[in-house]
Amino acid sequence: MPDGQVETERQGRATVPARVDVVIVGAGFAGMYLLKLMRENGFDAVALDAASGVGGTWYWNRYPGARVDIESMQYSMQFDKDLQQEWNWSERYAPQGELLRYANHIADRHDLRRDICFDTRVVSAHFDDGAKEWTLTTEAGDTVTAPRCIMATGCLSAPNKTKFPGEETFKGRILRTSLWPHEEVRFDGEKVAVVGTGSSAIQSIPIIAQQCDQLTVFQRTPNYSVPAHNAPMDPEFMADIKAHYDDLRALQKRMPSAADFDIDFDAIAKKVGREEQWAEFQRRWDQGGLGFMAAFVDLMFDADANASAAEFVRSKIREIVDDPETAETLCPSNTIGCKRLCVDTDYYKTYNLPHVSLVDVSKNPVSISEHAVHSGDQAFDVDTIVFAIGFDAMTGALLRMDIQGSQGRKLSEHWTDGPKCYLGLAISGFPNLFTVTGPGSPSVFTNMLPSIEQHCEWIAECLVWMRDQGIDALEVEAEAEDDWVAHNLDVAGEHLRSSCSSWYTGENIAGKPKVFMPYIGGFPRYVEKCEQVVANGYEGFRRS
Ligand code: NAP
Repeated sequence: MPDGQVETERQGRATVPARVDVVIVGAGFAGMYLLKLMRENGFDAVALDAASGVGGTWYWNRYPGARVDIESMQYSMQFDKDLQQEWNWSERYAPQGELLRYANHIADRHDLRRDICFDTRVVSAHFDDGAKEWTLTTEAGDTVTAPRCIMATGCLSAPNKTKFPGEETFKGRILRTSLWPHEEVRFDGEKVAVVGTGSSAIQSIPIIAQQCDQLTVFQRTPNYSVPAHNAPMDPEFMADIKAHYDDLRALQKRMPSAADFDIDFDAIAKKVGREEQWAEFQRRWDQGGLGFMAAFVDLMFDADANASAAEFVRSKIREIVDDPETAETLCPSNTIGCKRLCVDTDYYKTYNLPHVSLVDVSKNPVSISEHAVHSGDQAFDVDTIVFAIGFDAMTGALLRMDIQGSQGRKLSEHWTDGPKCYLGLAISGFPNLFTVTGPGSPSVFTNMLPSIEQHCEWIAECLVWMRDQGIDALEVEAEAEDDWVAHNLDVAGEHLRSSCSSWYTGENIAGKPKVFMPYIGGFPRYVEKCEQVVANGYEGFRRS
């Protein structure tokens, strides 16, 4: 069975319950773990998901070549120690199909499906101040009421809905990486266009190129990409990690990105010459993966150090790509690591194939007609268009629902100038509503699974505390929220990552306020703050 074609649509709960203690939106890794934690702590809980199966990101993003770019041994849940020992990953970087099987296995192993309603899209969540409870309404018109609501809706789950001029007239097939069909997709004999050159495009382009007759890639901004050097899992390596899993997990907790990227905190590019810098870049390039940016600790703080790493990658692009003009078009000029670094298998090499070409659309935006993709006065006949244009990140999934808190306050109004969220966990004016990896949390700058686990455990502990204390409504103080947002922006200001337009700042979506959304102060610092909040009696929260 090809990756992505796994049996995923197994039955969940038949009906939406009228009332539960805790309602969870989402049945990805976060929603599933929350469900388990809620049950363990004696709460009656239900999870609602628009998908027909569990897995979140790995349910929807089943495009060719989709795989995680954190190593499999690190990108896994740690709450189930037996599973951690029993599960065998097949490759250094797990493909989407395997990750989906893993998610399904967790659902079965912990008997979660009986409390998950699939094909259930939540359209609104309203808080009733009198009853102190949330009522969620689904697209089908069902409602569920609960005193506590947890949004486990993901950071990259609301696809970018940009409509290209003329798109509706196109007579061929349109595919989106973020909403890939469940049946196998083939491109044999076709002329294919891929629009976008982010991580999703960079993973799928080499595979699509293997199948189609002609591939044209439409690039607005070139991205830096480093090789994955993916390989079958080395059984000895896996056994060794399993023998010392606790050590790896403890190490992850100490790392800014909650992942072991072999970082040396004393390695400062500025202190060494270019030769030494490039030798280390080469070593990292040969190793493969996101650890490239961990070569020196000042790469994201010092413009010269960053420029050196950027030039190294450009030199590799020029080395790999035969046609000098194509190579130059593929060479990014912005800060490396500012937009999310991509990890690829044969991406640059793909442009050496005679049937693959690159079109720079930075000056002449894409438009579409019945049978072609256009840029300026150039027209390219195609049978299929693949949009790999990203997501309305961090806030999109929440704002696409009508969320109304205390006194009917709309989340969309509260966030008019950008998201305001305390620790990415809770929002002032929205009592008893929690968010997993919300804006203001390290989330997308970390290995997502340890971040998700930390959030879910924090929320579960908070709900138990509320019950023990007899608190029926808990709300973030506006001042604590403002302070955290200000701190978030201060930390971002020191970092080169805030220096370009990216989905981190919302600039990839027309009309979205430009605000740096995730917390870039690092996982350990963030966790310490969360623990402090608890130790100080849920500092920043008040009973409402
Ligand atoms: P993305 O990084 O936002 O890339 C979207 C691409 O589409 C960009 O090249 C963008 O160009 C282009 N684009 C958007 N609108 C366009 C338009 N109107 N005309 C022309 N081009 C347009 O999205 P993504 O590739 O889906 O990745 C999003 C994030 O998901 C990644 O950064 C990563 O965090 C995560 N992800 C992870 C993995 C993994 O773990 N393996 C895989 C895929 C994705 P501009 O740059 O000019 O905006």
